[in-house]
Amino acid sequence: MANVLAFAESRGGELRKVALEAVTAARALADAEGGEVHALLMGAPGIAAKAEQLGRHGADVVLVVEHPALANHSAEVAAATAAARAREGAYGAVVFSASAQGKDLAPRVAAKLGVPMAADVLSLEGAPGSVSVTHPGYASKVTRTLTLSAKPAILSLRPGAFTPAAVTKAGRVETLAPAMDPASARVVVKEMVQGRSGKPDLGDAPVIVSGGRGLRAAENFRLVEELADAFGNAAVGCTRAVADDGWRPQSDQIGQTGRTVSPDLYVAVGISGAIQHLAGMRTAKTIVAINRDKEAPIFKVADYGIVGDALEVVPALTAAVREAKQGH
Ligand SMILES: Cc1cc2nc3c(=O)[nH]c(=O)nc-3n(C[C@H](O)[C@H](O)[C@H](O)COP(=O)(O)OP(=O)(O)OC[C@H]3O[C@@H](n4cnc5c(N)ncnc54)[C@H](O)[C@@H]3O)c2cc1C
Repeated sequence: MANVLAFAESRGGELRKVALEAVTAARALADAEGGEVHALLMGAPGIAAKAEQLGRHGADVVLVVEHPALANHSAEVAAATAAARAREGAYGAVVFSASAQGKDLAPRVAAKLGVPMAADVLSLEGAPGSVSVTHPGYASKVTRTLTLSAKPAILSLRPGAFTPAAVTKAGRVETLAPAMDPASARVVVKEMVQGRSGKPDLGDAPVIVSGGRGLRAAENFRLVEELADAFGNAAVGCTRAVADDGWRPQSDQIGQTGRTVSPDLYVAVGISGAIQHLAGMRTAKTIVAINRDKEAPIFKVADYGIVGDALEVVPALTAAVREAKQGH
């Protein structure tokens, strides 16, 4: 694998976790052939301050594009700039996240360059002259292995499928101009409005409190919300059973056909631990399970387990977390 270009996604002037995931995956590809990782970082003036963080996660070079009109994501400008850089840099691969931004960008870049792309990549392996990836097919019923031999291979990574790793590299900063005038973009994002919950996104949250059918009724999700609020930095997730029943929005679903997450802490409340759910959360650093059935499969992956009724255990846990937080 030659040098690899990674798109470092940001929002509101902050790097997103998927940016570190992209750089980590790019590092693995580049290392297969002793190549370099170049991270493309775009945003409003000041975004360059985030370059150091990319260097700490394996970027040899950070290509910084600053422009006042890039405070919000601009697919046209980002795609034109990424494609122009990919052409000049003769990269072996260009790595995006399969986040909302990345889904918008990666196909545009592939089309501009006339090269193939693999979407929603779960794992990858670099070899001289090619890259092999796995990604889901047929509504996640199968996992396909693809080998891309065109250069560059355009990849979008499933958020959460790659755990950011600290690998300190130079993180040398180079300034780049946008490949088109942002003022001439045909679509301009005027404003970004935070979702109703005010909670962090599932992909970025260090803590996720997730609920399943064991909560018995939609209104009992209030207990999960309260525990998430007590942590302060937690998002709320759910199982497919719960999303299918309309207790929670589909966007909260974690698992094979939902989001893949890898937070520092995952609290599974009333979740049996079906293989399809585990597929989306088993890489969490610490898993705590609350289930009244001590034989529930979730306990096989849990670091800590509480056997009991969620309706009693969760309020007690919430009180304990609040107390612990007050003590600090
Ligand atoms: C193709 C396919 C894709 C799928 N994709 C996904 C996916 O992406 N994500 C996903 O989650 N699922 C997915 N599923 C569904 C999956 O197989 C399970 O059906 C689902 O995860 C079960 O959800 P659950 O754990 O909430 O419910 P259940 O399996 O019904 O488990 C409820 C758990 O709650 C416990 N419980 C009950 N009462 C209490 C109480 N009072 N206190 C504490 N514990 C209690 C029970 O002991 C049980 O373990 C998929 C299935 C298929 C076929």
